Amino acid sequence: MIEVKNLTKRYGKLLALDDVSFTVDTGEVLGFLGPNGAGKSTTMNIITGYISSTSGTVTVDGSEILAQPKQTKQKIGYLPELPPLYADMTVRKYLEFMFDLKRVRLPKQAHVDEVMRLVGLEKHGKRLIKNLSKGYRQRVGFAQALLGNPPVIILDEPTVGLDPQQIIEIRKLIKSLGKKHTVIFSSHVLSEISATCDRIIIIAGGKIIADAKTDELSQVLAQEGQLLLTVDGSLADATAELQKIPGVLKVKRTGTQGQLSVEFKPGEDVRRAVFSAMARIDCPILEMKAGGDSLEELYLKLTAKAKGGKA
Ligand code: ADP
Ligand code: MG
Repeated sequence: MIEVKNLTKRYGKLLALDDVSFTVDTGEVLGFLGPNGAGKSTTMNIITGYISSTSGTVTVDGSEILAQPKQTKQKIGYLPELPPLYADMTVRKYLEFMFDLKRVRLPKQAHVDEVMRLVGLEKHGKRLIKNLSKGYRQRVGFAQALLGNPPVIILDEPTVGLDPQQIIEIRKLIKSLGKKHTVIFSSHVLSEISATCDRIIIIAGGKIIADAKTDELSQVLAQEGQLLLTVDGSLADATAELQKIPGVLKVKRTGTQGQLSVEFKPGEDVRRAVFSAMARIDCPILEMKAGGDSLEELYLKLTAKAKGGKA
């Protein structure tokens, strides 16, 4: 549905995007995760045709944003980081205004009603936008993106500044959108993305550093596997024996009570070999468990590395 190819964007000397490529399938909910300044908004602004790229192409449902801007933009509903709301309009007037601006060709009243119902604004049509809470304003931004039923919905950090209850509601809304639309939504919060998306792309320093199904991400990010052992015997002997096991990279003491950490190549399963090795030297294993970084820790390490001191 969306194909992003070799996108590069320079702001003067700053290389904000460096050869970014990915595709999004129809009906997929893609999380676009990265720390502040990673290039998320820049990517989204290019996909939606708000700014141009330095090089590279974006195709949405077969049409290219630069070659056919009008046609392509009609396929996308966009909620930018700072949605352009008119504070002195009522919710309904604003949505009708955007309906006209987007030249939507659906029955106006019925469609605006439907969109307001979808985002939970049905009782707030007559309220002025400036009197709404931040969460309700965000819903108006959402509603605006849904006008015209575009097949693609792009949301730039839609939950920033919302309270936990509002965040849960917005997540639900995003999930429900995924049934009918292709969705890309960005955030700098890993837990938020992993709770909502089928697939996650991590961007840092203008480069994609991971692209994986949500439940496979920690495997993809892990540089090595780790086992944590507690043994009852000579740690020197145990270490020497463990280091002989094929696939084991490093053995370290991690405590004074017989604790060892065994790092091994990703994808290997060294548990049986560890058992046999310790049995050979008559060194009982009191405990063996999987160690290693949590997904959150892996994400922090990776993005810190990719940033490389850039502002
Ligand atoms: P994110 O949305 O992931 O926080 P952005 O895409 O907004 O990141 O920004 C990526 C990088 O490009 C940052 O270093 C930012 O300071 C820079 N940048 C963004 N917009 C502009 C601009 N209009 N002019 C100059 N630099 C910009
Ligand atoms: Mg941004």
